[in-house]
Amino acid sequence: MVVRVALDIALGREFDYLVPPQWEAQVEVGTRVRVPFGARELLGVVTELVPQSDQPGLKAIRKVIGAQSLVTPKVLDLARWIAGYYCCPLEIALKSVLPDAVRKEEDGWRERLHVTRLQRPGEAPKLTARQEEVYRIVEEWGDLPLQELLRLAETTSSTVRKLEDLGLLRIAAKVSERDPHASDVLVASRPLALNEEQQGALSQITAAMDVAMAKEAGLPGVVEPPAAQAPGSTASQTFLLHGVTGSGKTEVYLQAMAYALERGRGAIVLVPEIALTPQTVERFKSRFSSGPLQTLVAVLHSHLSAGERHDEWHKIRQGRARIVIGARSAVFAPVEPLGLIVVDEEHEHSYKQEESPRYHARDVAVVRGQREGAVVVLGSATPSLESYHNAIRKKYRLVSLPNRATEMKLPVVRIVDMRQEQSRGGGPPPLFSNRLVEAITQRLERGEQTMLFLNRRGYSTSLQCKKCGYVAGCPNCSVSLTYHRNAQKLLCHICGHEERVPTKCPGPECGDPAIRFSGAGTERVEDTLTRRFPKARIRRMDSDTLQRKDDFRTVLNDFRTGKIDILVGTQMIAKGLHFPNVTLVGIIHADLSLHLPDFRAGERTFQLLTQVSGRAGRGDVEGEVIVQSFTPFHPAIQFARRHDFLGFYDQETEFREQLGYPPFSRVALLTLRGRNEDKVKFGADHLRKWLDERVASWPGTIIAGPAPAPLARAENYFRYQIMLRSPRMTRLSRDLATLTETLTLPDDLRLTVDIDPTSLL
Ligand code: ADP
Ligand code: ZN
Repeated sequence: MVVRVALDIALGREFDYLVPPQWEAQVEVGTRVRVPFGARELLGVVTELVPQSDQPGLKAIRKVIGAQSLVTPKVLDLARWIAGYYCCPLEIALKSVLPDAVRKEEDGWRERLHVTRLQRPGEAPKLTARQEEVYRIVEEWGDLPLQELLRLAETTSSTVRKLEDLGLLRIAAKVSERDPHASDVLVASRPLALNEEQQGALSQITAAMDVAMAKEAGLPGVVEPPAAQAPGSTASQTFLLHGVTGSGKTEVYLQAMAYALERGRGAIVLVPEIALTPQTVERFKSRFSSGPLQTLVAVLHSHLSAGERHDEWHKIRQGRARIVIGARSAVFAPVEPLGLIVVDEEHEHSYKQEESPRYHARDVAVVRGQREGAVVVLGSATPSLESYHNAIRKKYRLVSLPNRATEMKLPVVRIVDMRQEQSRGGGPPPLFSNRLVEAITQRLERGEQTMLFLNRRGYSTSLQCKKCGYVAGCPNCSVSLTYHRNAQKLLCHICGHEERVPTKCPGPECGDPAIRFSGAGTERVEDTLTRRFPKARIRRMDSDTLQRKDDFRTVLNDFRTGKIDILVGTQMIAKGLHFPNVTLVGIIHADLSLHLPDFRAGERTFQLLTQVSGRAGRGDVEGEVIVQSFTPFHPAIQFARRHDFLGFYDQETEFREQLGYPPFSRVALLTLRGRNEDKVKFGADHLRKWLDERVASWPGTIIAGPAPAPLARAENYFRYQIMLRSPRMTRLSRDLATLTETLTLPDDLRLTVDIDPTSLL
């Protein structure tokens, strides 16, 4: 038997190998194998069983890994689609499909050495700093695989053995299964009686599931979708569930998932990484893991240790967990047979992977659903323009939930014109308007909670000299350095470069001591707040304050149990959180995202304001949202104030159509980078010529650039971009794939191709 194998290193092609007779029964498409390659041995995935190979002198595979193939043929197909559409080698696509923790494993569950913490004996031996550090990691995790510990602590096994000799640790082989939520206490939840709108949504979804399942089973009498539908239509099975925050979308998902389970099918729920809080997970677990359905719920997200990830994944592959909840890459979870994929907050940009393969999990979900006969539900209070457009054109089925599920009303949104605040005193604008200060005071008096939102961390965003105009910039990137007061450092948010804070202007021949900080970040909000409300219990939540594994959970718990009055944060606090006692949400600087050099700036601002507002008034008391803005009449802000998605959609699509931007075209963004700017520029011009010869003649295709990217320099690389817009992407991405294979660029230039980019930086 001969098999075709995609190796783990990206070579852009597959290789044939012989399978010795004793392994023939074990090897199938998707099996992981170890094979000889030159002088080395490499791991790879079997992608095809071939009757005969025309490659001479075939070598034999060395080892078959695991008792079960890891990539199912269906998921392998999906990886092929990703490689084709997003212009990357199959090996790279397979890398995303199979989590690292699973790929790297060679021997499965057995023979895995675990390190467990033992109690420190009364007379604790004195440890070296290094030993202390290793011990502390074990202490934090309680129990972890030896390999994982060596990686985390960057140490050798002899250090760990030494700690074992001292009686502080135990190293032992273990077949244990790690459950990241083992300590959770779950209270079984029962389905709620749906209101009429929810019921309508659910019955359409379940009816579509019936049709999809019958079709898969090849039953007669199933009506094919009419041929007249738009090409690429998935309206037999993709839904856009547009429901305001709190309209009960999640309850609809839960009941649709239960329907799939009862019919022997599994379901995947995708949630933005940031919204994958313990609260969210609990909501799903308490419905499915206890009570009548009794199914394991697997959770996949980046905060799991490699070991936990490995075990969760195998629970799914073995068919023991049929419900999966996870972030972006959970779209590849090997659930079989699959009945339903839910993509919650489908408009979220974090569904797009910012490295190769640059796939969009929402779009992959739609494709996967189509191929596997699963129904796909995209849910959002602020759908992406792309998805809503697809719904209007009947590619997706639109279902709306225009009202909140409970009695609570949508919050009142008040816009404060910060230009007025500014002119009153004459000086620079205050961080908090009078209106916001009054509103916070009121909440403190009434014992209600407040959330303050500013999507920028650090203390101030730039350090500038008034006298000579010097701005402290990053030496490696074209951005200014952010001042972090607690850390007493200037930091680059792109490359991490740090500097000491100067006490006088470092500008040439200046040295003025009156150098000043401008532009506020969350650290400054917290600081100003503490001075203004000395008695209030204030906490900040952004990536600077969350250092340890449990911080996120602890802060949210403290907030829920009323130990915090005011929570200050970045977008981290904007998503999916549900706190009944929050009656005030303040948005410090609503215009921040409006001025990004991106045609989606307005859409992003609208989405962000609506999402943040949705955090207010989720309990009995009506909520209030105060939006501080310097451009209060901008449509994105005004439509968000009125909770008017349709108004926003109409106005925004008009502008997009005029300029030929998505959803009226598809975009491919080519970025060329290198250390020498002239070379990058020259390479980009060459690229443009290549494109002009091949692509430009296509009807409707527009090529713009090359031009310096909005982020013109990052980590010492100059960046130039060319943007292509085309009515149809499939053909364009095929051509771009040829491009990446055939175009020869100087060694020190790197080209990335981003299909359907969400970030234009
Ligand atoms: P969304 O996902 O649209 O933001 P949720 O599903 O979180 O909305 O629902 C918001 C609140 O309304 C939750 O507290 C939920 O328990 C409640 N809820 C949802 N559906 C119903 C229903 N049919 N009857 C009563 N309460 C409901
Ligand atoms: Zn930098």
